[in-house]
Amino acid sequence: MTMTDYYTLGDPVADTKAPDGPIETRWERRRFGAKLVNPANKRKLSVIVVGTGLAGGSAAATLGELGYQVKSYCYQDSPRRAHSIAAQGGINAAKNYRNDGDSVHRLFYDTVKGGDFRSRESNVHRLAQISVQIIDQCVAQGVPFAREYGGLLDTRSFGGAQVSRTFYARGQTGQQLLLGAYQALERQIAAGTVQMHDRHEMLELIVVDGRARGIVVRDLVTGEITTEFADAVVLASGGYGNVFFLSTNAKGCNVTASWRAHRKGALFANPCYTQIHPTCIPVSGDHQSKLTLMSESLRNDGRVWVPKAKGDTRTPADIPEDERDYYLERIYPAFGNLVPRDIASRAAKNVCDEGRGVGPGGLGVYLDFAAAIGRLGRDAVEAKYGNLFEMYQRITGEDPYTTPMRIYPAVHYTMGGLWVDYDLQSTIPGLFVIGEANFSDHGANRLGASALMQGLADGYFVLPNTIGDYLAAGPFPKLDADNAEVAQARKQVEDRIAKLLSIDGDRTVDSFHRELGRIMWEYCGMERTDAGLRKAISEIRELKAEFWQRAKVPGDGEGLNQSLERAGRVADFFELAELMCIDALHREESCGGHFRAESQTEEGEAQRDDERFSYVAAWEFGGDLPVLHKEDLTFEYVHPSQRSYK
Ligand SMILES: Cc1cc2nc3c(=O)[nH]c(=O)nc-3n(C[C@H](O)[C@H](O)[C@H](O)COP(=O)(O)OP(=O)(O)OC[C@H]3O[C@@H](n4cnc5c(N)ncnc54)[C@H](O)[C@@H]3O)c2cc1C
Repeated sequence: MTMTDYYTLGDPVADTKAPDGPIETRWERRRFGAKLVNPANKRKLSVIVVGTGLAGGSAAATLGELGYQVKSYCYQDSPRRAHSIAAQGGINAAKNYRNDGDSVHRLFYDTVKGGDFRSRESNVHRLAQISVQIIDQCVAQGVPFAREYGGLLDTRSFGGAQVSRTFYARGQTGQQLLLGAYQALERQIAAGTVQMHDRHEMLELIVVDGRARGIVVRDLVTGEITTEFADAVVLASGGYGNVFFLSTNAKGCNVTASWRAHRKGALFANPCYTQIHPTCIPVSGDHQSKLTLMSESLRNDGRVWVPKAKGDTRTPADIPEDERDYYLERIYPAFGNLVPRDIASRAAKNVCDEGRGVGPGGLGVYLDFAAAIGRLGRDAVEAKYGNLFEMYQRITGEDPYTTPMRIYPAVHYTMGGLWVDYDLQSTIPGLFVIGEANFSDHGANRLGASALMQGLADGYFVLPNTIGDYLAAGPFPKLDADNAEVAQARKQVEDRIAKLLSIDGDRTVDSFHRELGRIMWEYCGMERTDAGLRKAISEIRELKAEFWQRAKVPGDGEGLNQSLERAGRVADFFELAELMCIDALHREESCGGHFRAESQTEEGEAQRDDERFSYVAAWEFGGDLPVLHKEDLTFEYVHPSQRSYK
């Protein structure tokens, strides 16, 4: 098949909200240029926020505080069980408390470079500026960040940076930040500005007269389907790494909210940019349904190594120093163990491919704390990473204080997501997308500790400023269930549920998901090739057809039915997976988390092709034939170069 059998080319897409001029003042000028809504009018305007993670929770709380009527939704039994709670290592901010040369400009520079020059300069600069406000906001809420002896907030280093700018709360930073956002949200719930609907799943977007005006939700406990209206809709529904089945994401993470919006007209940007995290506990068997992250913060003190000799099966303690290869320190002396994730993951894969991997199947490398324990003492290491060490020991039965951890790369984060402009508005007017669900700031590779920063920047600071520019034209006409577009959206949900329940096949939804994940990992994982991606697309299409013939979805739709929930999510993963492979196939370059085997330097590093691919690939839904819209990227401040961490 030729490329044009996989997609068609549409008109370019432009970010019309992005201000120009000096980058330092762009955000200030956009805020000044945006229309305002006066406090009395805010009370007449309503906003639906789907998701209560760091992005959605902070957004709903802030919009409520501003005076809007907010309706908040999540599928968990409590907003504070959103996947953000799992975040471990920390959150970046350019505070420069350490006086080690950090600045807004350096965070901006590191992020654009770390993303392999595939993100927008304006967005990234705004993110770096806002990073300093986030820390103040969270401290004011009482988030217990780690402190130094003198009382100042402590920081540590994360990959892709030579400064120490990551604020943390042991290995539970996400939990502490989410509790902060959750308290702010609860305050608004008590004040009556936010109505909370937990255990509700958004299954469709309602678009009326070209504007996003609501959602169709299913009450996961009673099975009741309702239509909910507002003047604007915000999706903060997280990432889609679970398309790979095995990932570090919470099992519930899915793409349904974003995918439904995509099918209704929202462009989906850079779907193939997946982050494979280098330090996860290796897969241990066929029955595993989830992988566990060992935070990147561990690479501050842990040294990564493998034996120098192939097939060396001695225990780590029996391998003398001069027979070990600390390969990251050797290949990348400037950044050592703290190279960015895409680089560290590929390096781990390379040494394992050479036959030097450790542990069962040779798919593992050591992360060794012996030197840190010798230098700092066990107590100091325990104070920093105690909960992570405990988690590792519980899962593997090995004590990382006395024997090195074994780690291997795993799917962790998705840089792709719904396309948004500088205001975080999608291509559907009135539909805003924040947090991991959008594609905005990380280019082809996100730096560690930058997801929490982006989610909170979007929710606490960006969206509350930009959404007013849209809402100033509201309130929009009242809607009811009889409206033709509303009724159609509802019917789409009902038909789909009925269809899933009627298949009555003989194969579990999980087994389809596992097989889809295997295809994705093999052909659209750490390394992709033209032939492999074509094969993946045809295998996914076959498996999708089989799913609709053979999937077994027991029970009915009248009450709690987790099999039905899962079936709907897996059905959407099939469509997304196809688009991811088409996106990966069309991008005949390597960049960040997208490594095309055909496009590498002689040293095996990723080879970008700026001439042909310096753009955001924004896809319009087109079934088997999606339409590609390109948004050209321009760089005025950080000039694209071959990334070097040597
Ligand atoms: C193990 C782990 C550790 C991490 N550690 C770090 C770290 O240290 N630092 C860092 O910066 N990043 C880290 N990350 C990444 C970071 O945690 C996530 O990117 C971030 O928390 C995503 O936040 P979010 O608010 O966008 O989405 P989420 O926290 O995933 O929240 C999504 C919300 O949307 C809701 N939702 C989704 N779909 C629907 C639907 N259809 N209907 C109704 N509700 C829906 C969910 O109920 C949930 O409330 C880590 C990720 C993992 C997996």
